[in-house]
Amino acid sequence: MNYKELTPQSMCIHAGASVNESRAVVQPIYQTSAFRFDSTGHGAALFAGRQEGYIYTRMGNPTIRGMEDAVAALEKGKFALGCASGMAAVNTVFAAELSAGDHVVCSQVVYGPTLTLLNTVYKRFGITIDFVNTSDTDQVIGALKPKTRLVYIETPGNPTIELSDIKKIAAAAHEKGAVLAVDNTFLSPWFQNPLTLGADIVLHSLTKFINGHADVIGGIVVVKDDDTYSRYRSVLNQTGGVIDPFNAFLVYRGIKTLGIRMEKHAENGMAIARFLEAHPQIAWVRYPGLKSHPQYDLGQTQHSGPGGVMAFELKGGFEAGETLLNSVKLCTLAVSLGGVETLIQHPASMTHASLEKEQRLAARVTDGLIRLSVGIEFHGDLIADLTQALDRVSGYIGAVPKGKNIL
Ligand code: PLP
Repeated sequence: MNYKELTPQSMCIHAGASVNESRAVVQPIYQTSAFRFDSTGHGAALFAGRQEGYIYTRMGNPTIRGMEDAVAALEKGKFALGCASGMAAVNTVFAAELSAGDHVVCSQVVYGPTLTLLNTVYKRFGITIDFVNTSDTDQVIGALKPKTRLVYIETPGNPTIELSDIKKIAAAAHEKGAVLAVDNTFLSPWFQNPLTLGADIVLHSLTKFINGHADVIGGIVVVKDDDTYSRYRSVLNQTGGVIDPFNAFLVYRGIKTLGIRMEKHAENGMAIARFLEAHPQIAWVRYPGLKSHPQYDLGQTQHSGPGGVMAFELKGGFEAGETLLNSVKLCTLAVSLGGVETLIQHPASMTHASLEKEQRLAARVTDGLIRLSVGIEFHGDLIADLTQALDRVSGYIGAVPKGKNIL
């Protein structure tokens, strides 16, 4: 059976299963560092690539391969590379694409360590970078140079949920001979497939929706052709940041429920976004499913659902943010996202606290900004929890940020 022809729902259950040569219904965990050769000739043939097979787990492993094939199929790519974390996936893209003298155009609103990796490590190697507001395609076009090798975007962006136009940015990048890499972590392959919109590379933090159970750190890069795959596989093999078989097994198990989880995240997300939008303590809500999202129309053309992550601004600013987070009981105070449990965080006092206020505001992280990753609990219970916590912040109204929406 060619699982690439299945619908996404059936793909979640069956994709990658051809890697399982045992009779086990579930892909076994090949918890081994190395694989036995039948003879020196066999070993030589494997190393020379004349014969297919496994040699050493850093270079490939059937449990990892099954999970990789499943994500590649869901993303409509050809191959995927399982990495030790989302950041290992980000680094694999940079290390595979960039050489001294190259230029990168990157989203200003991007996961913090991605920005820091470019600004510290890759800058040292002679790479120049322009961080622009990629939700404005003209800014991307304006930043492209003859030496631009890579355009790197995150859409929706972390944590402000801004969208970037994948199709237009891919076309602009290709015209200048650059490649487009998209971090698709927030929507997962269930709701968005950047490769079908012209992107060259897709990556994910598997830690989030794809695994979905907040018990694994992992990442993945998906590519479209054999040459890119061998180049990336060689970089990952040399740098060593591969996922291990047990984590790959857990992610592979998580993928089986990706579709039903994502639909529930989105259903709950819509209910909670509407509740928050109508609440007197909230200045605005940014969620791709709301018509009030400044790029709602763009979203309708490039994703099939809004996902489970939203941002909202409390009218009461910084103190209101702290009080809200100290008052929730069902929502968990934590910085990750994409798990079955609802997580809430206050970037100004947590993930972005180390930045100067000016830097924070440049990344559009305002004082009262809250990021909510909606889980799959009963939405009424979540609304009840947010209602009681918002009742406690009523004293802070007054510091309403200017304008209804900062985008
Ligand atoms: N990309 C995005 C959009 C993220 O939100 C994160 C982590 O939060 C990462 C990449 C990095 O993933 P990991 O924590 O698995 O290294």
